Amino acid sequence: MRGVLYPVVYLQLGGEFVAMPGLVSRVRERVYCVAAPFGPGGLVHCYFIDAPRKTIVDTGTAPVPQESLLPALREIGWDVSELRYIVNTHMHADHAGGNAELKELSGADIHMHRADTDRVNPQAYLAAARPDQLLLGEPENPAAAEARVLEQLGGAWGVDRVLEDGDTIDLGDDIRLQVMHTPGHTAGSACFYWESARALFSGDAVGGQGSRVNGYPLYSFAADYRRSLERLLELPVDYLMQAHRYRWSGADNPAVRQAGDVRRTIEDSLGVWHTLDEGVRSCLAENRDITFKDLFPKVLRVVAPQLGNDPDAAGTPSGALSTIAAHWREQLA
Ligand SMILES: [Zn+2]
Repeated sequence: MRGVLYPVVYLQLGGEFVAMPGLVSRVRERVYCVAAPFGPGGLVHCYFIDAPRKTIVDTGTAPVPQESLLPALREIGWDVSELRYIVNTHMHADHAGGNAELKELSGADIHMHRADTDRVNPQAYLAAARPDQLLLGEPENPAAAEARVLEQLGGAWGVDRVLEDGDTIDLGDDIRLQVMHTPGHTAGSACFYWESARALFSGDAVGGQGSRVNGYPLYSFAADYRRSLERLLELPVDYLMQAHRYRWSGADNPAVRQAGDVRRTIEDSLGVWHTLDEGVRSCLAENRDITFKDLFPKVLRVVAPQLGNDPDAAGTPSGALSTIAAHWREQLA
């Protein structure tokens, strides 16, 4: 079916098919963005690179290949068997959950930074997430939550090429992705820099104010996250291709930021980091022996108004738990 254009794709919502304007947008020459819904209210952006060795950056959760990526490929006129490389920005279920299915359909080689490869196995993935989940006490029905994550993680797969900082992924036609290890969000988060296009695929390395209402950026290593942002600030980038629609000081939240908005996006993210770091510092200054369970709501009460979030919002805000815990741990160390 190559060459056939599908101007409209169909999205399954609650069992009904709803016509959507194309899920694919063309970012620039040779780059397409696919906005893929997942879970309750989630949206992840995957990117196709049209090079001699056709490449996808991130694969969404397990249902995303069938629900979004295959329709998107039809829309741009590629056959899935043409995909040569699957490049993961990091090991999270909403970025690598589609790997198994896409690998099976295409035979593409899976690429991931070394520092995230220890949690490719689903049981190791769940085990890595457990300590943070216990910080506020025993979660309600952890088995059901873990079952949902396992569904998002999909089938088994392995990493074909383990990446290190400074590696190059050669897509042909002088298109090269330079691997930048940008830890913080996860230990092995990586950005992929296409220097001649001044384009950066940043995954979740630049988290703004998080992507959800009243949320926070998500990172497990606070000092690393800040250092990674500072490193990215030095890079000439005209296209910042993010995985989620991160909130920032701008009026709307597109996944792709261009020109002057790139620097502003990274600077905003650094500003949020400083607000959170200061919030934790002020609470620890009052009482260094405070338990995390007591510290957490105090920090939220301090930082929420500064970031325009509702301090009285119900429940645990998205991203807040791991991120505030990272500042707390590192300040106590
Ligand atoms: Zn992530």
